[in-house]
Amino acid sequence: MKILNGIAGAPGVVFGKVLYFDKKSECSNEISIDEAVEKCLEKVRKMYDKALSDLGEDKAKIFSAYEMLLEDVMFTGPIKELIETGKTPIDAVTEVSESMSSILLKKESEYLRQRADDIINVGNMIKEALCGADSDFTMPDGDDKYIISARELTPVDTMLFDHSRLLGFVTKEGGATSHTVILAKSIGIPAVVGVSELDEMTNLKEAYLDGYSGKFLVEPNDETKKIYDKKVCEEAEFIKSLETVKQHDAYTKDGERIKVAVNIGKPSDLKGIENQSFDGVGLFRSEFLYSSSKGKPSVHEQYEAYKKVIDLVYPNSVTIRTLDVGGDKQLKYFNIPKEENPFLGNRGIRLCLSNEDIFTEQLKALLMAGADKKLKIMLPMVTRIDEITRARQLLEKAKKELILENVAVSENIELGIMIETPASAIMAEVFAKHCDFFSIGTNDLVQYIMSADRGNSAVEDIYNPYNPAVLRMINKVINDGANAGIEVSICGDLAANTDFTEILLGMGLKKFSVPLPMINRIKKKISDINLSSAQQLTKDVLSAEDENEVIKIMRKG
Ligand code: PEP
Ligand code: MG
Repeated sequence: MKILNGIAGAPGVVFGKVLYFDKKSECSNEISIDEAVEKCLEKVRKMYDKALSDLGEDKAKIFSAYEMLLEDVMFTGPIKELIETGKTPIDAVTEVSESMSSILLKKESEYLRQRADDIINVGNMIKEALCGADSDFTMPDGDDKYIISARELTPVDTMLFDHSRLLGFVTKEGGATSHTVILAKSIGIPAVVGVSELDEMTNLKEAYLDGYSGKFLVEPNDETKKIYDKKVCEEAEFIKSLETVKQHDAYTKDGERIKVAVNIGKPSDLKGIENQSFDGVGLFRSEFLYSSSKGKPSVHEQYEAYKKVIDLVYPNSVTIRTLDVGGDKQLKYFNIPKEENPFLGNRGIRLCLSNEDIFTEQLKALLMAGADKKLKIMLPMVTRIDEITRARQLLEKAKKELILENVAVSENIELGIMIETPASAIMAEVFAKHCDFFSIGTNDLVQYIMSADRGNSAVEDIYNPYNPAVLRMINKVINDGANAGIEVSICGDLAANTDFTEILLGMGLKKFSVPLPMINRIKKKISDINLSSAQQLTKDVLSAEDENEVIKIMRKG
């Protein structure tokens, strides 16, 4: 038996056969650098579309970054220059990608250091293409599931696997925020990374992978088997215990009905929802329609996608968020000027209001899709009242135009806003008079309250949802909404974190909206909580002075 230690990346304990993912290293059949780059471009564009439809926009983003790099003459130009001086194409790619990435590796920012990995990954892809060694990996025939072990798994590699046949990932390289870990979490399998002693000898051997402790136990002996079979059973029991809440509405232990809705990024995210009890869709991010490589969606294409979800979820309601691009999400046809601070620039509702034609097309598709059914329209990134009133005017205008054309439209659509900027949270009491509902977007709210970029791991200790400033703000919004008699939900990641369930209930939250894989964990957690003790815990937490005190109080409670 071999016990290999690494970093616990994604939770879960599994047992199964290991498949070592080995890339060909021999070089044959050389092609030109231009052909190799073209081949890679084709591949990453395909990967982008596959990731977009399988995993959503967030996970697909990495492939558009690869595409940009492959199209960037600042990257390919120096490679070609070196080839002209007599270097082999492989050496030229190695030299340029290593020197570019070493500059980034010296940066303090973790974010920029991770971009260094992206350059190396793209360089390796070009080298594989130059060698003709980029043949697609296929899993062995049959239905068996495997623990995939590898030196490292790039985003391109992970797209080669049939996700339904994966038990877990274990890699020699990588850290807690690597792509391997992100992907493992989104498909719900364990991952252990940074296992320095991992090699191809693990191929086809039996092993346990423990995503809680970061252990990879290859060819386990009888004693380990006894211990670990128990852990695998306990994990299965825990997952099974979630079945008890699956088909029921969520109630606290003392009988308060709490709504738990789902967040989706595209209609197919509702796959597997058939026997699941849930309170509609609390957040439908509409960006996926706009970010496909095919370009701007027609009104009809949008109508079809919205209607599919509205019909599927009926009689529950669907909250569709209008287009939320800008910031780190760019669209070629939107022509957003380059900004120094895109997260503080032209994004969300600001961009829609300065592109009224595109916004009106979306509103028309929504009005048509919502005819006869329950639909809520939600505006992102609101900071001022006039954004709500202008959006409402445009909605009314779109409605009149459709009625004049004899098109059936929804008569009672609710219009609400995301509370994800400090301005909207501070003004919640006033904004509530202009809205039918609020949904708190904690992902952005935390970043703007704490002035710390949500995607920059160099400031991840400051981007901290446990900070009392964040919790007091959330508490204020929940109370302002309740006093105004409008619905308040939370659809940011905080809603799916069971650490926060009790205090959110204590604050008076009545609706959570979470990704589908998390729905039963949240329902189960709610069913274990007594509202009166939650209220006391919340009171204590809200008087804490910093995040450490918050965590101390929460864990005790
Ligand atoms: C949020 O900001 O919390 C949110 C749900 O929106 P997104 O993550 O799409 O910005
Ligand atoms: Mg947001």
